[in-house]
Amino acid sequence: MAKLVWRVKLVAELQPGVPTETEVARIERDKQANLAELGLRLEEAKQLTAALQAEMVPAQVTVLSECRRSCASCGSVLASKGRYPVRFRSLFGDVSLRVRRRLICPCQGGDEAMSFAVLDFGGNAVAPELAYLTARYAALAPFGKVAALLSELLPISGAQHASTVRNRTRRVGELVVR
Ligand SMILES: [Zn+2]
Repeated sequence: MAKLVWRVKLVAELQPGVPTETEVARIERDKQANLAELGLRLEEAKQLTAALQAEMVPAQVTVLSECRRSCASCGSVLASKGRYPVRFRSLFGDVSLRVRRRLICPCQGGDEAMSFAVLDFGGNAVAPELAYLTARYAALAPFGKVAALLSELLPISGAQHASTVRNRTRRVGELVVR
């Protein structure tokens, strides 16, 4: 029997009037759906948000990299110092990135050894919302239960272990104390 098909497309408009389309999900149902097949399932919602995140985050980092190409004071183009790998962890999945570093402009007192990253993760590439939710629930339930709850509801990939929850919560606590 023919199926019902929904293809979810993301239309990005990163430059005004220049849309690019990417299919981020395909959802199928039999025509004779039962109650459990009405609407989105949790697994589909997780895949959908993770697919959106995987498109949005690298695009933002690329645009940021372009914005920081030249010196804000004198306008000189800043030399690239290569890119370094970052695994950005968020509520909607992990995204592997390569973040560009650029030399600091001589007009700002920079030399060959001084560079900056176009996006500074502060040594810990965890989205503030993920850190917040983790710490919030870790205050209410054992670390292992929090890890299980978050990874059941959200497309949190990789190791979402009790020790991750504990470490993340400790970092949030240290920030709060400061
Ligand atoms: Zn300059």
